[in-house]
Amino acid sequence: MVYFEKSQPAPNISNTHNSQEVLDRLEKDFCNKCYICEEKEPQNINIEHFISHQGDRQLRLSWNNLFLSCRHCNDIKSTTFDNLLNCTVLSDYVDTSIHYYCQPMPKEKPIFKVLIVSDKAEETKELLEKCFNGEHTAQKALESSSLRSSLLKELRVFQNLLFDYYENQDNEYFLVKIKEHLSKRSAFTAFKRWIIRDNIHLENEFQQYIGNQP
Ligand SMILES: [Zn+2]
Repeated sequence: MVYFEKSQPAPNISNTHNSQEVLDRLEKDFCNKCYICEEKEPQNINIEHFISHQGDRQLRLSWNNLFLSCRHCNDIKSTTFDNLLNCTVLSDYVDTSIHYYCQPMPKEKPIFKVLIVSDKAEETKELLEKCFNGEHTAQKALESSSLRSSLLKELRVFQNLLFDYYENQDNEYFLVKIKEHLSKRSAFTAFKRWIIRDNIHLENEFQQYIGNQP
């Protein structure tokens, strides 16, 4: 999970949140990613209510309450997780309140660790664990496994770019690619930024690209 700035003013949502205009704006604001798992351009995308509306008209039609998620994460979040870190609020520090780690080896599972004292961070960690590692139903086990495969594939590409950067004299090409991987537009950005933070050499080299930049 990384920070996304919600564009203002709100689109027209006076009657329904389920419009092409709202979807287009959310896709732009969330860079075509599920804000929970950070999968890029997921097959099934949902307009999600960050705080479940449960019939409340104001929550249902509030622009600030509309997020973009994949169906897998949205199903798991449902009405169960209503006290999460908010990735559209800078002061919630979504990508540094939780440590994201996944060893880039076959069949590995991600590990999440809460770094601050916060109920919201604990609940967010619980949700992330269910989305990436959940096996509570056969269907969800399959979807989680598929999500982990996408994550591992992406981390492998990122890892290769880092090696290529140090192994090549003319490394400008690789630097451009690495910067793109560390931007919020990339898939699974939170994991990649933690790869940088976890290594003093990488952090010194790429620290400037792991902030809340566009
Ligand atoms: Zn997702």
